[in-house]
Amino acid sequence: MDAEGRAILDLLPPALTARVIDTPAGPALAVVGDQLTLVDVEALLSQALPAEGVPVGYVLVADGDGALEDLVRRSELTLVKPVPDSSHFSDVSPRRIPGLDWIRVMRSPLGEHTRGSINVYLVDTGDGVVLIDAGFSTEAPRLSTALEIAGIERGTVRALFVTHCHADHVGAAAAIRAQGWLAEDAGLVLHSETDRLGREMFLTPADRFVNQLIDNGIAPADVPEWRAGLDLMADLANWPAEPRLVDGGTAVTIGEVRFEVVSTPGHSPDHVAIRASHRIHGEVVFLGDMTLGSKLPQCGVRDWESLDPIEDMRRSWQTVASGAAAMGLPGHGAPVPDLREFRAQFEQTYTDELMAFRRQYGGRELTAADVVDERTRAGDGFGPKQFVFYGAIAWFKHLERLGQASLVDEHPIRYSVELL
Ligand SMILES: [Zn+2]
Repeated sequence: MDAEGRAILDLLPPALTARVIDTPAGPALAVVGDQLTLVDVEALLSQALPAEGVPVGYVLVADGDGALEDLVRRSELTLVKPVPDSSHFSDVSPRRIPGLDWIRVMRSPLGEHTRGSINVYLVDTGDGVVLIDAGFSTEAPRLSTALEIAGIERGTVRALFVTHCHADHVGAAAAIRAQGWLAEDAGLVLHSETDRLGREMFLTPADRFVNQLIDNGIAPADVPEWRAGLDLMADLANWPAEPRLVDGGTAVTIGEVRFEVVSTPGHSPDHVAIRASHRIHGEVVFLGDMTLGSKLPQCGVRDWESLDPIEDMRRSWQTVASGAAAMGLPGHGAPVPDLREFRAQFEQTYTDELMAFRRQYGGRELTAADVVDERTRAGDGFGPKQFVFYGAIAWFKHLERLGQASLVDEHPIRYSVELL
């Protein structure tokens, strides 16, 4: 490490640790806090680094509690250029989660597609390890390296549970099996709906869906964007053959840990949480994407099957928060220390967004595409257009169920309502 690297290490607050990692821009310093949440480096750099900064090629990852910003302010080093986006996580080595000696997390990158990472969990059952979720297919090699670093032997992983059909959770599952990590009798465990939906989404030729889009009023200019998104997702999901299919309520005990598959629709119709009860260390819940982002309903791509995803999500939170576990481990971001408190906040968000949606669109007839246009123009869309689109449909369905909207057209693409 060079002098600048050492200078930064000297400035680190005690709660943060750092390590040198390789990036396309050369060696970089990753600063990691206990909570393992990615700080938006670009935003940070644009705001906090006028005269003082960080050396070229340095990657900064922190827990979002201000420690890193403080570090940057106190640093006398100069930023020359930002680090390339996809280099944040060339190191996915397993890390301990404070207070949970039996669980480690490997953060697999979301690559150039999205800033951030997905948590792949490694549960030590006392009789082999179990994996929860898998990351994108393209990240399988890095995950393999992380498993080697974790000291896992090939052929010894007792099971891989996948929380839902989205490509960042299921993508590398097939490769993990192909690379020989799973024990001979181990299952790649999917909910039966995850398998059905995933096959439909990712194995159906995109052409068929694109024609449907064109037939049904998606602006021609937007079609390439949708199409690219669909192809990319199919690629990244790389659907696994012959998974073991289960239903909600299925439980299996491996070593000291009982794993229970709990149906938690909302983010996607097939979504499950995994309740893990350790005989000695107590219980946690793996939450998948139940905590994603701050905007409801956090829908995924091509999700028009659910009758009312927002109500589904509220019920799912009720289920998860009423169990014995206090702590939840999400698919993205930091652990949720108190599930009951999180649920209370979730209900508040729901109420606020319901009122905001009614305020903005009340008394109008509109389609989901209208909402996408207006939110995009206002810079108020959560994530890609698809998310906003299905989010709008989810609100339409919910308002209809509450008697606050009436259906005009229920075709998936033209879906429109009149808000009362
Ligand atoms: Zn998802």
